[in-house]
Amino acid sequence: MTVLGPVPVGELGVTDAHSHLYISRVAGGAADAPVLTDEDGVARELATFRAAGGGAIVDCQPGGCGRDGRALRRLSERSGVHVVAATGFHRRLYYPPDAPLFNLSAEAAADVFRDEIRHGLIETRTNQIASGPPASGAVGEAGETPAIRPGVIKIAAEASLAASPQALFAAAAAVARETGYAIEMHTERGAAVEAFLDTFIAQGVAPERLVFCHVDKRPDFGLHRELARAGVLLEYDTFFRPKYDPERGVWPLIGQMAGAGLAGSVALATDMADPGLWAELGGGPGLLGIFTIIGARLTDMGLPAATIGGLLGGHIAARLAVN
Ligand SMILES: [Zn+2]
Repeated sequence: MTVLGPVPVGELGVTDAHSHLYISRVAGGAADAPVLTDEDGVARELATFRAAGGGAIVDCQPGGCGRDGRALRRLSERSGVHVVAATGFHRRLYYPPDAPLFNLSAEAAADVFRDEIRHGLIETRTNQIASGPPASGAVGEAGETPAIRPGVIKIAAEASLAASPQALFAAAAAVARETGYAIEMHTERGAAVEAFLDTFIAQGVAPERLVFCHVDKRPDFGLHRELARAGVLLEYDTFFRPKYDPERGVWPLIGQMAGAGLAGSVALATDMADPGLWAELGGGPGLLGIFTIIGARLTDMGLPAATIGGLLGGHIAARLAVN
């Protein structure tokens, strides 16, 4: 499910498994939270990405902490790049102190996520203020811009299970079970992923519905092998950020995973929340780095074209599909 409607899995093409295209400033949120609001610049860069063979981007900003589904729709329309939007929740520090989501019961939070999957992102419902959530069938009637549906449940783990919002995790698990939607989970540099996997299994979520993000910041091959064998999709995204030492972290890890026959459990991403990573915003290396840096290196490693295609799109697309 993209911001412009459903797209067959095979048509997503080269897909960034975790990034950010638009993040508004959140009053009361963390002072150092990324802000990404140059729609024209991002649209230009997306168009360049599309022209170079790019297909899709998973936008991992959930509601209430800077997401604007209307901006995502405009960016997709202008560039031709498929955009998958997210329901769910981010880390607590990205919300205002009084954000209601973090005080909800698991049942009430599940209602929020389920409602977005059924009826669209809250900010994209034209009649949301006048009449509350639209009844089924009210979305997209003649003359109305249809509400935008999310395609993934994005959630955020803190550094431990105990420090993470249990009710929101239970809510995400319930809605994933009901809808078949995949969960993309932010991790704090891969911390406690074993415990998070256990809690999802205990709540009836199949590991195949889980994508663990940023885990290349913990490049422990034995751990990655076990997570992959359990069925989890592992998202790697430190390629453009020297502070995470990709030469000693993600690149050898990809080699080890491919060598063990586990490349099918890995999806690659850029996570470009920081405007400084965008070429059109005055930074770099920019989205084209997916081809010039990541794709080129995968080819140099001698990986088969089918494996590269999976790492750069096929694997995440298959997980996002809802049967
Ligand atoms: Zn992110």
